[in-house]
Amino acid sequence: MKIEILGCSGGIGPGLKTTCFRIDEAVLLDAGSGIEHLPIDDLLEIRHVLITHAHLDHILGLPLMLATIYDKHKEPVTVHALPDVIEALKRHIFNWVVWPDFSALPDTRPILNYHPIDTGTTCSIGPYTVTSLPAEHPSPTSGFFISKGGNSFAFTGDSSFHRPFWEAINRLQPQLVIADISFSDEAHSIAEDSGHMTASQLSWVENVLTYKPDLRATHLKVGFEEEIAASVLNSTRLNVKPLIHGETIRL
Ligand SMILES: [Zn+2]
Ligand SMILES: [Zn+2]
Repeated sequence: MKIEILGCSGGIGPGLKTTCFRIDEAVLLDAGSGIEHLPIDDLLEIRHVLITHAHLDHILGLPLMLATIYDKHKEPVTVHALPDVIEALKRHIFNWVVWPDFSALPDTRPILNYHPIDTGTTCSIGPYTVTSLPAEHPSPTSGFFISKGGNSFAFTGDSSFHRPFWEAINRLQPQLVIADISFSDEAHSIAEDSGHMTASQLSWVENVLTYKPDLRATHLKVGFEEEIAASVLNSTRLNVKPLIHGETIRL
């Protein structure tokens, strides 16, 4: 399984894009501004988009992608997400005001399908087994566990420290966990209010984990990347490295 980090920043700026990971050729995990790296031929290969939550930094590329491929697409794109997330996309994005309702276009065979996945349930998506994992964030959010051929990884989505997520990780034992570490410890009150983890909360993760997956930090606040990375080193004996824009992880 190949995971391409198209975007992993908590904001925007030169060289910085928001959350979007491409899994092999046909699956996106979140559709933030990182999607801009994909040329149209690659966008046309996308069949599935897993969305953790409806915050703009994780979805803004989805309506733009659908408009870009609309007249050339050969197969519909299916969005997999919590029922509440799908409802938010329908009500607030694909509502004919902000953007056309691509689940009704073209009327003969719409380009956009929705597939609701409740927290804790597992389904097959192409060659992947996907489990929706619990998360804690101001907007309805799920993490995901994704496996193929004996290789697997998990993503917290945006979430504060949420013990049920890490207990699920112990049960599922993915090789890699990508975790939202948005803030340094100085910003702990902002982190708490906005539902993200701080670097020092990795010590709580360390206390829950019963094995040692590879851990990667994502969604770092723009301008504080070095501070957060240094704080991570001081907070835990776990080996946690920030994701890098443009890197490819192979499992
Ligand atoms: Zn969010
Ligand atoms: Zn976010």
